[in-house]
Amino acid sequence: MSRFEHTETALIHGGISIDERTGAVNVPIYQTSTYKQDGLGKMRGYEYSRTGNPTREALESLIAELEGGHKGFAFGSGMAAITAVLSLLHSGDRVLISSNVYGGTFRVLDKVFDHFSINYTIADTTDLSVYESQITSDVKAVIIESPANPLMTVTDIRAVAEVSHKHGLLVIVDNTFMTPYLQKPLELGADIVVHSATKYLGGHSDVVAGLAVVNSEDLAQKIAFIQNSTGGVLGPFDSFLLIRGIKTLAVRMDRHVYNAGKAAEFLTAHKAVKNVYYPGLESSQGFEINSRQAKNGGVMISFELHENYDIRRFFESLELVSLAESLGGVESLVCHPATMTHASIPADIRKKVGITDGLIRLSVGIEQIDDILADLSQAIEKSEIK
Ligand SMILES: *Cc1c(COP(=O)(O)O)cnc(C)c1O
Repeated sequence: MSRFEHTETALIHGGISIDERTGAVNVPIYQTSTYKQDGLGKMRGYEYSRTGNPTREALESLIAELEGGHKGFAFGSGMAAITAVLSLLHSGDRVLISSNVYGGTFRVLDKVFDHFSINYTIADTTDLSVYESQITSDVKAVIIESPANPLMTVTDIRAVAEVSHKHGLLVIVDNTFMTPYLQKPLELGADIVVHSATKYLGGHSDVVAGLAVVNSEDLAQKIAFIQNSTGGVLGPFDSFLLIRGIKTLAVRMDRHVYNAGKAAEFLTAHKAVKNVYYPGLESSQGFEINSRQAKNGGVMISFELHENYDIRRFFESLELVSLAESLGGVESLVCHPATMTHASIPADIRKKVGITDGLIRLSVGIEQIDDILADLSQAIEKSEIK
């Protein structure tokens, strides 16, 4: 549990936020791999930086407090965090993944954990009775994303957690898109939260990092053992950058979400736009559930242009908004899920889950909103096939 009533304050003062020795208001970058021992077996709390590092520890205690969890862990990327969590499974186990799961999560299960006979099933976490029927006796865990990329599909985290726990499953939520400022999955019943901290938590597109938070001492010991054994830890400098980014999360998110609302309105009203996917729109699939479990609809929007618009020309015509993988930075980015973020998902599965070739994903930045809309507007105009 957080010592602070408000997340805005915990972002700045949560975890270990002050250097004990000097009083420095920022935890220093302990750029060291090892620590002098005062004698055999006489350590001062640290022995080797894969096992523990004070800067990383400050970050880990911060994310644990923000998510309202028992213990946090920092990794070299979101995928390293997800891999560490999946390493809790044994051969013969099966994990359920929601259909719009992050492409990399699908790939690591499909192409890497497959070597160890750990299986997966693409599950429908939006329909509880279908979901429950997919829980066979070998299923040991579920990975939920809500909203899930790129169609911003909303899953009722509390309801899925309840059904899953009835069958003894470990409930893992990838909270990258919402962050603990907008949504706290552990409070909704999840056992583990994972993050690509590369996105909103870092917030400046300058660090690749992953985080995991667990809700029990048992899971904490297991993940600590896996983190130290497999070694995908986050370095001290990147840990520092992430702490620095997290301090401004609330102000950034407030502006991001404001801009996203404006962009969703603009796109919905535009004659060139066929579909808009954004859980902040009352007309969207998951509006009601999302409003119950999250502070608002978040920042990510996907949309489709009508057939008489050339999406290649749209991407090439953008001047302010960059075509790039990733999301969650201060700058607006667009991507083409079918050939970029979700390219590792086979075409037939992509089609089945609704990731069409015309789908565009927009990560709305914190630039002045009129500038973002003007750029989208001129690019859409140039892409019309006359
Ligand atoms: C980017 C992303 C990941 C992977 O994180 P990396 O930091 O790129 O390894 C996982 N889940 C979601 C939802 C993401 O957007």
